[in-house]
Amino acid sequence: MIWPNGAKSATMLTFDFDAETLWLSRDPANAKKPGVLSQGIYGAQRGVPEILKVLKDHDLPATFYTPGWTAEKYPDRMHAILEAGHEVGHHGYLHEWIDPSKPEDERAAFEKGLEALNRVAGITPTGYRSPAGETSPNLISLIEEFGLLYDSSLMTDVTPYRHTLEDGRPGPVELPWHWSSDDAPYMIFAIQTPRPIRSNDEVFQIWRDEFDAIHEMGGLFNLVMHPQFTGRPSRLRLLHRMIEHITSQSDVWIATGHQVASAWDQANPK
Ligand SMILES: [Zn+2]
Repeated sequence: MIWPNGAKSATMLTFDFDAETLWLSRDPANAKKPGVLSQGIYGAQRGVPEILKVLKDHDLPATFYTPGWTAEKYPDRMHAILEAGHEVGHHGYLHEWIDPSKPEDERAAFEKGLEALNRVAGITPTGYRSPAGETSPNLISLIEEFGLLYDSSLMTDVTPYRHTLEDGRPGPVELPWHWSSDDAPYMIFAIQTPRPIRSNDEVFQIWRDEFDAIHEMGGLFNLVMHPQFTGRPSRLRLLHRMIEHITSQSDVWIATGHQVASAWDQANPK
């Protein structure tokens, strides 16, 4: 891949703006657990504005994959994200689990999410990230059917590639990610299934090493973050530190998912 402006690699700073949907979708009983939900409320109320400040300080673009439910509850946050020039992508309606045995449910959630983003923020997203860390052939077909340019749900490669639909037609561009470049594995916590919360030094080391290696390979470093985790006070410092490391390389193209997918699409037309 030859990246724009002669860059050796590309980096996407992405935020899955789940708010309470991460917990509401996993267990409906969470709707009556204010403590659990307050983690997501923090992400929307405090995390997003703090993240926007860091991005503004560095004058960098980002992509916020947002469920329709979140857009409806936090329209002011949607407007702040868009006014700052960032991209908003599709992230389901209520952060649904993938269930390929119910294609009509997948279609309904996909359409409802699109409708909410359009009604609240006046946008038609060009990118989709599955809310489940998983996807389905039906969802990839829906992305194509509704005219979106790209998906960012799979871990197949470290450079973009094009999906082939089940009927053999070329499909959307894929912008791959990986759990190692995601904040959730290091920062999520639940009382029922406790996991250790990892230190910034440990997370920085993993992210830095992954970035350095992908940069050397000329690939796409797709950093996946969440306002409920990276929006925490000390994690904002980690984000700042990571951006400083990435921008210390002069030949990195930092772009939104839409910009990366468009560049790849133009270089590799259907
Ligand atoms: Zn999510």
